[in-house]
Amino acid sequence: MAEDKFSAIIVGAGPAGSTAAYLLAGAGHDVLLIERGAAPGSKNMFGGRMYSHALNRLIPGFWEEAPVERPVVREIITFLSGGRSLSVNCGDDAWAQPPYHSFTLLRAEFDAWLASKAEEAGAMLACNISVDDLLYEDGKVVGIRAGEDEMFSDVVIAADGVNSVLAQKAGLARMFSAKQVATGIKMIVELPAQTISDRFQLRENEGAAQLFVGDCTKGMEGGGFLYTNKSCLSLGLVVNAADLAKGGVRAPDLMEDFKNHPVIAPLIEGGEVTEYSAHLIPEAGLAMTPRLFGDGILVCGDAAGFVLNLGYVVRGMDFAIGSGEAAAKTVIEARRRGDFSKAGLGAYEKLLRESFVMRDLEAFRKAPELLENRRMFGAYPEFATSLASELFTVDGTPPLHLFRKVFKHLGKSGMSATRIALDGLKGAAWL
Ligand SMILES: Cc1cc2nc3c(=O)[nH]c(=O)nc-3n(C[C@H](O)[C@H](O)[C@H](O)COP(=O)(O)OP(=O)(O)OC[C@H]3O[C@@H](n4cnc5c(N)ncnc54)[C@H](O)[C@@H]3O)c2cc1C
Repeated sequence: MAEDKFSAIIVGAGPAGSTAAYLLAGAGHDVLLIERGAAPGSKNMFGGRMYSHALNRLIPGFWEEAPVERPVVREIITFLSGGRSLSVNCGDDAWAQPPYHSFTLLRAEFDAWLASKAEEAGAMLACNISVDDLLYEDGKVVGIRAGEDEMFSDVVIAADGVNSVLAQKAGLARMFSAKQVATGIKMIVELPAQTISDRFQLRENEGAAQLFVGDCTKGMEGGGFLYTNKSCLSLGLVVNAADLAKGGVRAPDLMEDFKNHPVIAPLIEGGEVTEYSAHLIPEAGLAMTPRLFGDGILVCGDAAGFVLNLGYVVRGMDFAIGSGEAAAKTVIEARRRGDFSKAGLGAYEKLLRESFVMRDLEAFRKAPELLENRRMFGAYPEFATSLASELFTVDGTPPLHLFRKVFKHLGKSGMSATRIALDGLKGAAWL
């Protein structure tokens, strides 16, 4: 065994890995945080908003020093169908006050800041290193291999994101299926801060999160997103990877159509596209969670499939931070007992179950199934937008009673009242 052995090697300086490193280093552990990108965040992208609660518990008032963009004070969901649109717009003054409910972020800056907190706490950050494999001794993980280099530790924390190579190498996870992940595509559109505030009816430094359902994914499972940052917009699409493969549509073409959609085009008008990126999202929830620990290894964040997409709420960052915290606490306790075996790390699952991570994932266990319902992406947007459009239309034709209007548009969207009632009951039971 090498002499320069670390207490913990953490692979991946995303929010899960940096949180674990920050807490472990703060507790006096010798921590090596390894990142394959040139800097933390350089390889990372997401839609755009982090719910604050998880980080605020660890670093109270983090927004005072973290590179956050705007606190989200306005939530908008827009249904798009055949030239019609219908938006639900919700605001809450409380979201604009500390402790802010959620912030839009840009990952390059935010991830770099969180990793710097881990470094300040004493962790060693090593970038530009891609970990290829795990090292074993008597069946227990004792370190990592990166190219020719071998590094040793009491425990390895796999925080290497979706499709975790390390969880697979450890025999804890299998390769996901295309049905279990979505492809996310995103562009950054630069605009003056005041233009953004004006277009989204925001006060200075306040932000909006807008999700889109319907035509933007051409009937495929998924949706669009738009988040307002200080002086740019994060605009993108998330589409189930199996649907995308079957649909025969190229992701860049889908994005181009979305960008030019009559509802989107005025929002980004005059802006300059400065970045384009793509990333996978684990979307099957607990159905794709691997075994979370083994001899000398723990898995957290996206590597453990901890993402929740409810259609109107997308969460992964707070789960990454919460599971990074649970991993760190597990290692601190294992060190106290001098036991990094599978049994010694078993407390990890218990800590996750006691935290919001497993509680919330369990509560919405069936949500991924609900989102597999194709009507959500075609028939419902069609029904909602055409009914709303008729309600607002005055054109001299004889008005129909509301019920007749409802049934007329139900018929046009190919659904029956019974179908809607059944979907409603299913949705209410799951959500
Ligand atoms: C399009 C899209 C939109 C999203 N929108 C939201 C949203 O609005 N809100 C939200 O909360 N969540 C959102 N998410 C999910 C969120 O981004 C993730 O849940 C979160 O980033 C998970 O953090 P993590 O630290 O587990 O993994 P990651 O952020 O993926 O970090 C993993 C790190 O490991 C590094 N790495 C990987 N392999 C290796 C290796 N072999 N060696 C060394 N380093 C390695 C990577 O470079 C990376 O830095 C979105 C995701 C996508 C793709």
